Amino acid sequence: MLSEIGYLLRQDPEQRFRAKAFAAAAWSVVISRPDLEALQKANALTSIEAVGAGIAKILAGLVETGRSSYLERLRNEMGQPARDDESQIDLGQYQGDVHSHTDWSDGRATMLDMAQGAQALGYRYLGVTDHSPRIKVVNGLGAERLLAQSQEMAGVQSQMKELTLLQGIEVDILEDGALDLPDPVLELLDVVIASPHVKLRQEPAAMTERMLRAVSNPHVDVVGHPTGRRPGSREGASYDFEAVFKEAARHNVALEIDCDPARMDLSPEMARLALECGCNFTLDADAHAPAELAYVPMGAWMARRAGIPQDRILNFLDVDELTSALR
Ligand SMILES: [Zn+2]
Ligand SMILES: [Zn+2]
Repeated sequence: MLSEIGYLLRQDPEQRFRAKAFAAAAWSVVISRPDLEALQKANALTSIEAVGAGIAKILAGLVETGRSSYLERLRNEMGQPARDDESQIDLGQYQGDVHSHTDWSDGRATMLDMAQGAQALGYRYLGVTDHSPRIKVVNGLGAERLLAQSQEMAGVQSQMKELTLLQGIEVDILEDGALDLPDPVLELLDVVIASPHVKLRQEPAAMTERMLRAVSNPHVDVVGHPTGRRPGSREGASYDFEAVFKEAARHNVALEIDCDPARMDLSPEMARLALECGCNFTLDADAHAPAELAYVPMGAWMARRAGIPQDRILNFLDVDELTSALR
């Protein structure tokens, strides 16, 4: 419910900080599993990390009654009534995130910091997927820097007890649907996320061809933030979603639910369409700093609302199952 409140608030650009606060509170509750009833009785809900007085009040209502008049009001205002076909997702079984950034590109933390952040959350794996070279402003990685990064990764990995680092790339989908790195490079990586970042306003027919070509590349594992939308400020790309989603399913390419509150892409409505097209999914924070790993519950709410069963989401696989799914 906290995640859903965050999601609904995020539709309004002016509420983006509140939306983030709700997302952080939701994750804090998932991670620390506090005894909410006891805390509520003791009037101590604010002792939970990331829960301030305002959120504590809403949480108290939830604990007491199982519902929230605040959430119900938001649902009405946003025309998003509760659905009775939501799925069950237990975030306690979430195994790891496959899309994250480090200071090798535009992340704000070192690989070691990100790995420690993920390990502290109990993750079993973290995909390090920095940007590809075309996006110059973010210092994207070509083959040589990927090689150097793999050496650093070996060093960081040796310091991790429970966490497996996966080396990947968030490769840009070029305007014609080719990818921003050659196949022999992509082939060496553990996880390849192909994402549209520029020229999102392409004609739908050209955009459809572009996306169809990208999902047909045998090295692509996941389509990152598949529409490129920015709720409240930018509409995403428009293309023949059904055709592209079906092609992705045929090639065993998962679609991402990017949990970054600035993206929330796929939306619940689009994710439902992708589910009907036979797709699998990933739930990733697309974190650029350890604290942003906390965005996952927001996406979990979107997946629930889309009716996606947990076994269609790759992040619930253990590390062996995941690596064979990504092969
Ligand atoms: Zn991206
Ligand atoms: Zn990213």
